[in-house]
Amino acid sequence: MMRIGVIGLQGAVSEHLAVVVRCFEEMGIEGEVFSVRSASDLSNSDGIIIPGGESSTISRHMKRLGIAGKIIELAKEDLPIMGTCAGCLILADEVDGHSETGDVEVLGLMEMTVERNAFGRQRESFEQMLAIDGFDEPYNAVFIRAPAITDVRGAVVPLASVAEGVVLARKENLLAVAFHPELTDDLRIHKMFIDSILK
Ligand code: GLN
Repeated sequence: MMRIGVIGLQGAVSEHLAVVVRCFEEMGIEGEVFSVRSASDLSNSDGIIIPGGESSTISRHMKRLGIAGKIIELAKEDLPIMGTCAGCLILADEVDGHSETGDVEVLGLMEMTVERNAFGRQRESFEQMLAIDGFDEPYNAVFIRAPAITDVRGAVVPLASVAEGVVLARKENLLAVAFHPELTDDLRIHKMFIDSILK
């Protein structure tokens, strides 16, 4: 039985829960996906998703509840973790100083610089076709006040980019997604994450 926890403090939580259920069905996996509201909810998870939302709010509550510390521990034990949009920012070790940084408490798990709201006010919400390393067909990505990864270092590997920067990156067990894979019918990003749990 595969168990995936979605950090359920704020943001696009129910959408991730629904998409993971669909992936389990389509992939023939016996699994359970649940909303994480305390550090103890994380015990026995095989994978964790940090959703989009307000990165300052999500990260502050994660720290206050001890979820942040527990995730850092689990990441070091190679637990697969995917962060989408605000969650992508939270995985980083540096938030770009030029943009509104707010008070995002990053986890520092991926050596990369992320710029918050990197696409400006005019392009707050849009869709863009991406060529993604490892995908045969282009992927239509939904961006909502999205961050962009403006620098990758160390073992972080970029998998897709647009003019503003990298929008999909992997480091071993960690997957940073600047867009919202839970808002489309294309399940390939979640399936890629679930594949990393199966390995
Ligand atoms: N702009 C938001 C933030 O940085 C993220 C937006 C999102 O997750 N859709 O908090």
